[in-house]
Amino acid sequence: MDWSSYRGVLVVVEQRAGVAKPVSWQLLGEGRRLANKLDAPLMALVMGYQVGHLAQEAIYHGADRVYLCDSPELRDYRTRPYSRVCLHVIRAFKPEIVLMGATYTGRDLAGAIATHLPTGLTADSTMLDVDEDRLLLASRPAFSEKMLATILCKQFKPQMATARAGVFEALPRDPSRTGEIVTVPPQIPPEDIATEVLEFIAATDRVNLAEAEVIVAGGRGLGGPSAFAMLKELADALGGVVGASRAAVDLGWIDHRHQVGQTGTTVRPKLYFAIGISGAVQHVVGMQNAECIIAINKDPAAPIFQIAHYGIVGDLFQIVPAITEAVRARKAAGRFRADGEGLGFSLTGAGSGGPVRGAE
Ligand SMILES: Cc1cc2nc3c(=O)[nH]c(=O)nc-3n(C[C@H](O)[C@H](O)[C@H](O)COP(=O)(O)OP(=O)(O)OC[C@H]3O[C@@H](n4cnc5c(N)ncnc54)[C@H](O)[C@@H]3O)c2cc1C
Repeated sequence: MDWSSYRGVLVVVEQRAGVAKPVSWQLLGEGRRLANKLDAPLMALVMGYQVGHLAQEAIYHGADRVYLCDSPELRDYRTRPYSRVCLHVIRAFKPEIVLMGATYTGRDLAGAIATHLPTGLTADSTMLDVDEDRLLLASRPAFSEKMLATILCKQFKPQMATARAGVFEALPRDPSRTGEIVTVPPQIPPEDIATEVLEFIAATDRVNLAEAEVIVAGGRGLGGPSAFAMLKELADALGGVVGASRAAVDLGWIDHRHQVGQTGTTVRPKLYFAIGISGAVQHVVGMQNAECIIAINKDPAAPIFQIAHYGIVGDLFQIVPAITEAVRARKAAGRFRADGEGLGFSLTGAGSGGPVRGAE
């Protein structure tokens, strides 16, 4: 089979109610790097209803060309109408690589498309690259996460991968970027509208670590499940969510949905508290891309201090309530910003490799 007409990288932009998932912009950032290496265009596919603004946003986030399919039938995600549009775009415009977020929707859609084309699909990638033969090198943890497997799809095109949210970095939004928007007619046959969405009920107990801007995470150092209530108070004061190390999850102190790390969620918040967490590599790979990391640990030699921007050596049971009180006081005084400096940390220690003492 001659696949030479397949060219470029296509990122499928995932959205709900006109709001894009951050993973879409993260994949456009990584897709830009791959497309530059391949000397090929970076394309985006935006599907939904009243989502024209996202096509423009995709250009601001790195796309050269955006395929836009805007139709009432695409208001809510349903596998068949969405995969129909995706298949049409892939067959018509022939990207050599297709990337989607490894979200519930992305996994469903990617699997449906790969089966139809047919081609290979690497699920849940954490590293992407291309080689000199234009082959996609999609790496993901394998064998109970003990190894990293690099998977290639040599025989078919496009080469497809879903990728974890929070792993790749979005490009800074650049409103001066220009690109082409190609309108794609929906062409969804009535038999593909096999289901009807009657109502959308958002899960109230959902832990959205991947999209959280502030995460207050606790580990074995908490000593038991009840201390997570103290972390929740700080998280609530900061407008964030509670995370956890695997040790805390394995001990049954908190649900697995809160776990950060290699076998949990990869996160990229603006602010990450690591409280009573030692900093094992399997935890660190899941949170090291946080913009600001504040570690609280009684052991000054804890490895977490090697990557923390701010560190406090001491007993978390004294420090955490004090920070919560300080946040509340600053909010009441209208002097609050959810980052290290805004919290009153007086010394910066980014990459200093040692703990920093000095909260107000
Ligand atoms: C295949 C594999 C996958 C894994 N995946 C993950 C993963 O996804 N996520 C993950 O987190 N781990 C993962 N792990 C486990 C990881 O190796 C560590 O065992 C785990 O992260 C340790 O959790 P912890 O830091 O909470 O506990 P510990 O390593 O026991 O650290 C507890 C820390 O609390 C501090 N402390 C204790 N009391 C206090 C106090 N009163 N005040 C302040 N500090 C205190 C201690 O000094 C210590 O540094 C994985 C391991 C394997 C083998």
